[in-house]
Amino acid sequence: MVATDALPASLSRPVEHFDVLIVGAGISGIGGAYHLTEKCPEKSYVILEAQDAFGGTWRTHRYPGTRSDSDLYTFGYRFKPWTTAPIATAEEILRYLGDVIEENDLEPHIRYGHAISSATWSSDERLWTLNVTRTDTGEHLVFTANFLWMCQGYYRHSEGYTPTWDGMDRFKGRIVHPQTWPEDLDYAGKRVVVIGSGATAATLIPAMAAECAHITMLQRSPTFFFTGRNVNEIADTLRELDICEEWIHEIVRRKILLDQAQITKLCLEFPELAREELLKPIRELLGPEFDVDTHFNPRYRPWQQRIAFVPDADLFEGIRSGKASVVTDEIESFTETGIALRSGESLEADIIITATGFNLSVLGDIQFTVDGEPMQLSDTVTYRGMMFTGVPNLVWVFGYFRASWTLRVDLIGDFVCRMLGHMSDLGATVVTPALRDEDSDMHLLPWIDPENFNPGYMARGIHLLPKQGERDPWRHSQDYWTDRDALPAADLDDGTLVFK
Ligand SMILES: Cc1cc2nc3c(=O)[nH]c(=O)nc-3n(C[C@H](O)[C@H](O)[C@H](O)COP(=O)(O)OP(=O)(O)OC[C@H]3O[C@@H](n4cnc5c(N)ncnc54)[C@H](O)[C@@H]3O)c2cc1C
Repeated sequence: MVATDALPASLSRPVEHFDVLIVGAGISGIGGAYHLTEKCPEKSYVILEAQDAFGGTWRTHRYPGTRSDSDLYTFGYRFKPWTTAPIATAEEILRYLGDVIEENDLEPHIRYGHAISSATWSSDERLWTLNVTRTDTGEHLVFTANFLWMCQGYYRHSEGYTPTWDGMDRFKGRIVHPQTWPEDLDYAGKRVVVIGSGATAATLIPAMAAECAHITMLQRSPTFFFTGRNVNEIADTLRELDICEEWIHEIVRRKILLDQAQITKLCLEFPELAREELLKPIRELLGPEFDVDTHFNPRYRPWQQRIAFVPDADLFEGIRSGKASVVTDEIESFTETGIALRSGESLEADIIITATGFNLSVLGDIQFTVDGEPMQLSDTVTYRGMMFTGVPNLVWVFGYFRASWTLRVDLIGDFVCRMLGHMSDLGATVVTPALRDEDSDMHLLPWIDPENFNPGYMARGIHLLPKQGERDPWRHSQDYWTDRDALPAADLDDGTLVFK
């Protein structure tokens, strides 16, 4: 939709206006577009995506073996059945997203290579104005929108987080971060050290082990893993019975969610029992000689960090076969030929992979201004973990970490469409969360309780994130099972959303 207003002379293109502007064409943005198409077909919308194709996380990460660490029955959308093995490769997820785009004719709404640098809200115009750069031509474009649906994820896509260690410049081999994987990296026959033991390391190591001379997982402290076969027996049985995929998807989702709710409860109520349950299969796989307590028994309680699923125990099979090993120690410094450890030991390496995590990116590194004032997100209080006090017409999709991220994409999709419909009914064009008088002395808490969920990037960036309150609707529960009931039932007229 092209605005008819007079255009700034400096622009070669007219300002384009949309009712809704979605930032990012990852799994959240594509999901948002589907919900708009289904439930608000009268709204014009566009997705602006900085990369040159859809997929977000699943396009950015190109290291060997990139795969989901949760099942695709729940990481897939509610509305599009997942029909194969639960843990999926990046290619399979991209294919699934491509099918969603094609089946729902979303492609004409997506503009690739459009990086947004700033967003300015004007209460006089009741509009967001966005400055956008085309990554292929460098052209500067301006878009306006009534409503922003922020689906930019939670980390900076351009580069991962690499700590600085003494002597890194001395190392004669190659240092690689998995997020910026070099296409020409030849690791056949090489000695590889992977620093870190999160989901990325657990994926990379089995994928590379067969070709490397040897691969070592070097960790400061251990991580919890689930392990099991990459199959869903209920789904397979239902397929044998010729049940339709829509039913299989829904039944399997319900079963997985029930199991996860029980596991979460166990972890929270009986953490030591949960710890032993998680360690048991690893002890069995690696045998009595292996020091499981040193290498796989974390200091934190189960579920304080995301627990990655290791399909078919491939990481542990790699260790058992001797192709891979695990070292739990601290880095003293890099040397010319590898890494010197605090214990006095050293690791020789041709390639060092820093699987050390992400840089948190708050709202896609976009500079936000509201009525002439720079927006300080950390000064705001969140409405249900998706909107912010004093910030009009903006929703952020920040998914779940303990359950699949996408479960929240669908819940927020329902909520936003319901809210947009409510605004039409009221004849309102602006919605802004605001604390009521009775909320004014509410105790404010961090965006995510660090006792409850504390990965490194969150600890490094928590001061940049909004606060949550101690009661609804100002809480950010990060709990699917709470939100599943609370979001559809949320009273839009309880005075916490101010419509104008
Ligand atoms: C390797 C890996 C595996 C994971 N596995 C799982 C899993 O199994 N289960 C799970 O629940 N979660 C998983 N996660 C978390 C995962 O990131 C999310 O689940 C999900 O993919 C995030 O989707 P998204 O669309 O919200 O964000 P992203 O995938 O991060 O996509 C955001 C998009 O927005 C674009 N964008 C950002 N800023 C701008 C801007 N300023 N202008 C224009 N475009 C912009 C980006 O280019 C990107 O394409 C994994 C994460 C990683 C890194």
